[in-house]
Amino acid sequence: MSKYWSGITARLVPYVPGEQPRDKKYIKLNTNENPYPPSPKVLEAITGAVNADLRLYPDPTCDNLRRTVADYCGLSERQVFIGNGSDEILAFSFVAFFNPGEPILFPDITYSFYKVYANLYGLSYQTVPLDDEFNIPMEPFHAANGGVIIPNPNAPTAKAVPVDFIRSVLENNLERAVIIDEAYIDFGGESAVRLVAEYPNLLVIQTLSKSRSLAGLRVGIALGSEELIEGLERVKNSFNSYTLDRLALSGAIAAFQDEDYFQEATQKVIRTREMTMTQLRELGCKVLDSKANFVFITHPAVPAKQLLEELRAEGILVRYFAQPRIDNYLRVSIGTDEDMERFIQTFQMIISRHVNE
Ligand SMILES: *Cc1c(COP(=O)(O)O)cnc(C)c1O
Repeated sequence: MSKYWSGITARLVPYVPGEQPRDKKYIKLNTNENPYPPSPKVLEAITGAVNADLRLYPDPTCDNLRRTVADYCGLSERQVFIGNGSDEILAFSFVAFFNPGEPILFPDITYSFYKVYANLYGLSYQTVPLDDEFNIPMEPFHAANGGVIIPNPNAPTAKAVPVDFIRSVLENNLERAVIIDEAYIDFGGESAVRLVAEYPNLLVIQTLSKSRSLAGLRVGIALGSEELIEGLERVKNSFNSYTLDRLALSGAIAAFQDEDYFQEATQKVIRTREMTMTQLRELGCKVLDSKANFVFITHPAVPAKQLLEELRAEGILVRYFAQPRIDNYLRVSIGTDEDMERFIQTFQMIISRHVNE
């Protein structure tokens, strides 16, 4: 606390990102990064952009990248917004589409940044409880609200909803913005992008951080009606017009141009996830049905907090949330086959240690 802080700053409860250890001795299964490197073409494009042009500001409207994304998604450039990571787009969206005193709806167990943004901007929200199996119920999202945000697949549960679920939420909120956060959509969910042409109230947000292995480059995209995209542009240009640097723009374009690499890496993660889910169930875990690059698990014999600490002692980082309803669960990112083999072996060892006590 400092006397120099504004009232807002003093009251903030900031988001806490997963640990990024400085040494490389850990198997990192705690922040949902992709275990595979970005496409070599992306690295080449970034290297190619390291030149004297760096003295010039980057393109504030990201035209080339917007065109690339628009073609890729079958939309027009005016239906595409680019941000410095999807977190930035989420932050802009809360200002662009939500009003104080009109509560935003989102699930009770979800990406914890939504609450942080609502508090930052003095917006109110109402959380919708997931059911006992951690499914998102539909009816509560049909009630009066000041806007909706739903991640699909949800985090940290990894569970997905079908496009018809989203269509129904859109139909019942035609006067409000409905944001679908598709950070993990490429790992098996059904994207709502196909609904953009039909629903002017839909904003789909995606990221290059997970399925395209570019968490370190900071690029997110939003797809929606021209009026929603224009709203985001207005907010962005009231904050910082140059949110993406020249290297990020070049790398992101190349990422969308190497479809083969993207498909192959994504399929590998999905295969490893399916194998990991089977093995964890064989070890007695409850594993929620995952359509993401992580799994959400609990074991009947050993408390999650204890598993977290014992895994860490064995050199494996996973994520734990000390929150009601999920404080006996762990979120485990999917690594390479090798990483997951080590994880499963270690997990089995820890479990047997406790069961034999
Ligand atoms: C990782 C994640 C993001 C943020 O992604 P960036 O593009 O790296 O900022 C947004 N939403 C959810 C649900 C995420 O898991």
